[in-house]
Amino acid sequence: MLVYLNGRFLPKKDANISVDDRGFVFGDGVYEVIRVVDGKLFLAKPHMDRLKDGLAGLEIQVDENMVHNLMSVAESLIKKNDLLKGHGTVYLQITRGVAKRIHNFPAVDVQPTIYLSTSGFKPDLELQKNGAQAITMSDIRWMRCDLKTINLLPNVLAKQKAMDAGAFTSVFIRDGVVTEGQNANIFGVKNGVLRTYPRTNYILPGITRALVLEMANEENIVVDQTPINEDELLQMDEIFLTGTTTDIQPIISIDGKQVGNGKRGNIARLFQDLLHKRMTEIPSRTA
Ligand code: PLP
Repeated sequence: MLVYLNGRFLPKKDANISVDDRGFVFGDGVYEVIRVVDGKLFLAKPHMDRLKDGLAGLEIQVDENMVHNLMSVAESLIKKNDLLKGHGTVYLQITRGVAKRIHNFPAVDVQPTIYLSTSGFKPDLELQKNGAQAITMSDIRWMRCDLKTINLLPNVLAKQKAMDAGAFTSVFIRDGVVTEGQNANIFGVKNGVLRTYPRTNYILPGITRALVLEMANEENIVVDQTPINEDELLQMDEIFLTGTTTDIQPIISIDGKQVGNGKRGNIARLFQDLLHKRMTEIPSRTA
């Protein structure tokens, strides 16, 4: 298994970073997870655009060409690790680099740390068919949830809390409304209308979320980006999560209470089929 670290492909066991890396000390960095299907990157451009937004948001200076070049690096890594069949992911992380531990940014000549790895991945089709359970939890995250930073402690705690409760995911509630899941965006369906939290600083602008909105438009499904109130949650006909590794995941119970008819709904099913189709028709990257 090879990884890419700061300009070099090398075995994962030989990839070392300094304990002074600001990613390690402060969580000072951003990341992306990109889906790979039969060796091709799925929705590479929006992921790279979000990465650039994250770098800009944290004021981490990385040469524009260097960021662009990371797609070719990812493709080389996919080939080197023989991830050319089936599903996988590319993990990409950039931190502000190695510097003396002071809170303010280091001198401009400190180079960011750039790391990429790949993994094989098996979508849980049974779970996607049968639906999953969720619990609600207070959204204790900061106010820049739109940045995909490596600071994931609230998300880690939320997932663990869900698992301890025998559920698959937590659903975050902020100010009485549903924002998103700990590693996925969330949609509701009521009387055929799709509801989801609007794109603000309180959610991650999910790449899969954007695709679902695009597909909803193509299917003439009405979208209402008004947040779902906590007390509306259980009145939804359907609830589903969206994410790069989550795909379209129906939620059939929340805090032990049934959602809709307790089964995967028709709209979730439709988006699952449409997403699957998109994944089998990935165009080759042009540049
Ligand atoms: N929201 C959060 C908090 C996430 O961590 C993720 C993915 O990791 C998502 C939403 C879904 O985003 P995407 O569809 O880009 O994977």
